[in-house]
Amino acid sequence: MFPKRCWSRRLRPAAAMAELAPYAAHPDQSRGRRHPEPPPMGRNEYQRDRDRIVHSTAFRRLEYKTQVFVNHEGDLFRTRLTHSLEVAQIGRTIARNLRLNEDLVEAVALAHDLGHTPFGHAGQEALNSAMKDHGGFEHNLQSLRVVDLLEERYAEFDGLNLTFETREGILKHCSPQNAPELGDVGQRFLQGKRPSLEAQIANLADEIAYNNHDVDDGLRSGLLTLEQLQEVRMFAEHLNEVRRAYPGLVGRRLIHETIRRMINTLVNDLVRQSQALIATHRPASLEEVRECPPLIAFSPEIAECQRELKGFLRTHLYRHYRVARMTAKAKRILLDLFHAFVADPRLLPPQFQEKAENHLHRTVADYIAGMTDRYAIREHQRLFAVGEITP
Ligand code: MG
Repeated sequence: MFPKRCWSRRLRPAAAMAELAPYAAHPDQSRGRRHPEPPPMGRNEYQRDRDRIVHSTAFRRLEYKTQVFVNHEGDLFRTRLTHSLEVAQIGRTIARNLRLNEDLVEAVALAHDLGHTPFGHAGQEALNSAMKDHGGFEHNLQSLRVVDLLEERYAEFDGLNLTFETREGILKHCSPQNAPELGDVGQRFLQGKRPSLEAQIANLADEIAYNNHDVDDGLRSGLLTLEQLQEVRMFAEHLNEVRRAYPGLVGRRLIHETIRRMINTLVNDLVRQSQALIATHRPASLEEVRECPPLIAFSPEIAECQRELKGFLRTHLYRHYRVARMTAKAKRILLDLFHAFVADPRLLPPQFQEKAENHLHRTVADYIAGMTDRYAIREHQRLFAVGEITP
C-alpha cells in the first residue's frame, strides 16, 4: 500500500535554517570562472550566474520552446520557460530545507534546458541522428555550449563565463567519450564522482516538475483522462484523498488539488530521505560530497511510484498517436533544415556562414538548436514552401 506518512508529515519551516550547511556550495569558495573577473558587487557569485542566465538570449527563447506540446497548440501548456521556473521553485524549496545554496540551485535550474532544440525530445532525436558522424547532439552538452560559447553578450569573452559549480550542474550527463574534451566539468564522469548537492537537487526537481506538469497538460489536452490515471498509485491515492475531503469538487480544481498534493509528497519525501542520507554519510564539505554516493534521493517507495508514473506517461502520453504525429512532423522539419543548410551553407544567416567555414555540421546544429518552435516552422516555410518566394 502507498505509504501514508509520505504526505501526512510536514516539513519544518525554513526560516529557522538560514545558515548554510558545511557541505553546501559556498559562493566565496567557488572554483571560479574560466575567465577571471573581479568579484561582484551587491550579490554573490551564484546570484551573478543566475542574473546572467536570466538576461541571456537563450533564456528568452525558452518561452517559445516546448516539451511535449507544440507552442501554438494552446496558450496554457507548459513551455520550457515556465518549466524552468517551476524547477527553480521546487529546487529552492528543497535547498532551503536542507540548508543548501538556493542561489546555485536556482542558477542551475534556470539554465538546465538552455540547450534544448525546438520541439522537445523529437528535435533532439532528429539532430542527434543528423549529427551521428559528427559528434552527435545531446541537449546537456548543448546547454553547456550555450553558456560557455554561444551567447554573445560580453566584450571580453564568449558565453556567460559562469562559475564552475553552475556549469557542473548544467552538465547532468556526459558519455565517457565526450568527457575528456570538456575539461574541468568533464572530470567527474571519468573519476566516478558526484556533483554538488545543489546540482543533484536541480536534477530531481526537474523530474518532479515534468512528471506532474505532464499529467496536468495531458489532462488539459484531453490526451489523458482521470479514469486512465487511476492506474497510477500515487495519483489515485491523492485523488481519492481529495475526493474524500471535498466530495463536491470537480474539474480543474480537483485536478490541481490532486497534483499540488503529489508535488508536496515528492518534495517532502525527497527532503526527508536526503536528510537521512546526509546524516548517514556525514560529508564535512562540498569536496566530501563529491566522494559520497548520491545523497539527494527519493525513498525507495516513492522512487518506485515515480517510475510507475513515468512508465504511464511514456505509454499513454508520449506515445499517444497525436503526439507521435507532431513528433514525426517536427523531426521532418528539422532534418529538412539540417540537410538544406549542410548542402548549401549560403542559406545560413551571415553570422553563421563564417563559423560554418571551419565547422559546418556543428554550426548548422547550433543554429537549428537555437531556434524556437515557431521560428523553425517559419524557416522551413521560407526554404521549402512551394509558391512562397520570400527570403
Ligand atoms: Mg527540464
